Amino acid sequence: MTSTLPITPDVMTIPRKPIEGVLPNLIGLQRASLSNALAEIGTPQKQIKMRVAQIWSWIYVKGARSFDEMTNLSKSFRETLIENFSITRPEIITRQISKDGTRKYLLRVTGGHELEAVYIPETDRGTLCISSQIGCTLTCTFCHTGTQKLVRNLTPAEIVGQILIARDDLEEWDKPTGDKRLVSNIVLMGMGEPLYNTDNVRDAMLIAMDNEGIALSRRRITLSTSGVVPEIIRAGAEIGCMLAISFHATTDDVRDVLVPINRKHKIAELLDTCRNYPRLSNSERITFEYVMLKNVNDTDADAHRLVNLISGIPAKINLIPFNPWPGSGYERSDWKRIEAFGDIVNKAGYASPVRRPRGEDIMAACGQLKSETQRARKSAKKMAQEVKGQ
Ligand code: SAH
Ligand code: SF4
Repeated sequence: MTSTLPITPDVMTIPRKPIEGVLPNLIGLQRASLSNALAEIGTPQKQIKMRVAQIWSWIYVKGARSFDEMTNLSKSFRETLIENFSITRPEIITRQISKDGTRKYLLRVTGGHELEAVYIPETDRGTLCISSQIGCTLTCTFCHTGTQKLVRNLTPAEIVGQILIARDDLEEWDKPTGDKRLVSNIVLMGMGEPLYNTDNVRDAMLIAMDNEGIALSRRRITLSTSGVVPEIIRAGAEIGCMLAISFHATTDDVRDVLVPINRKHKIAELLDTCRNYPRLSNSERITFEYVMLKNVNDTDADAHRLVNLISGIPAKINLIPFNPWPGSGYERSDWKRIEAFGDIVNKAGYASPVRRPRGEDIMAACGQLKSETQRARKSAKKMAQEVKGQ
């Protein structure tokens, strides 16, 4: 099979220069850039550190949506800020709430592009699933997002903005942090491949982890990647968050079709990189995501191969029942099959939680996120047949 992969990391990165007529957004700037921005508007040098701390706290602790709210800044300084900057979140187009409490936000960003973020409440935590790109260049055959053209990378402001919007909606500002948090975990499992937008994802996550702001621990942030090997190494060094790998197949032949980036970075190379991921231990395990596709990747032999392949890596296997979407051409494995597969993985000593589909009634489950842009591509059915034929 010839590779037709459009692998073009970072080419779509939006330059961070201001768009004409639009005031620069203070959301998404690192502290150093915020300092520079304040210096440029004439803030006295000796005040800058304090002003950065104040503005940071207004934006990321109190959730301020306008400079007027920043009442510990002098009126004249606030006016200067208003003339020069904005604090802009993505615009909410719709918010849907599922029967199970899952909330899906359809958001619009500069250029009129749309993206989705999903909040999943659980008894002991609340997980916000955020997007890193609009669309995706990769074409994993079972993924709805993969049917969308990559429109562009999201900026740090747009990535952090998804967290701010969820906290606005859940009225979770200026509350004590700790175990009671509503947005207690972030997963980069929404639209897009985060490691084709590593710089912006890193900048956004550094803001989310900042102790004087949103203050999420790096252990509560999980980045899911289809396997962009060189960028996994960088993510480990520069973000240090938890890693999830969209594994989904136990032979290169099958993975080449399901997760086509495998044609570039084979299973052996991917697993070598995983073995070297920083701080791996029993308390910091890699999650291997495995979508259960009927008659494609769900046999006992697959389960045995899987545990052999990852042997030695502190890991858990997250079994994801396939979430169907119109025209996918795949079917979800039967529950009995999923259980049998999970048993084998479990007996080999790996936790194998089955990811309960959440928000299905609002198309908020894994791989169902997409906006309106469509891409013509080889039908998933045809590709599924290719897998079976191998
Ligand atoms: N691009 C990244 C992160 C987004 S996808 C990645 O691929 O890892 C988040 C997870 O949902 C991935 O493991 C992905 O393979 C899985 N997924 C995609 N489509 C799915 C579907 N239709 N049903 C179940 N899981 C799906
Ligand atoms: Fe892109 Fe991830 Fe979907 Fe693959 S599974 S098409 S990498 S979003």
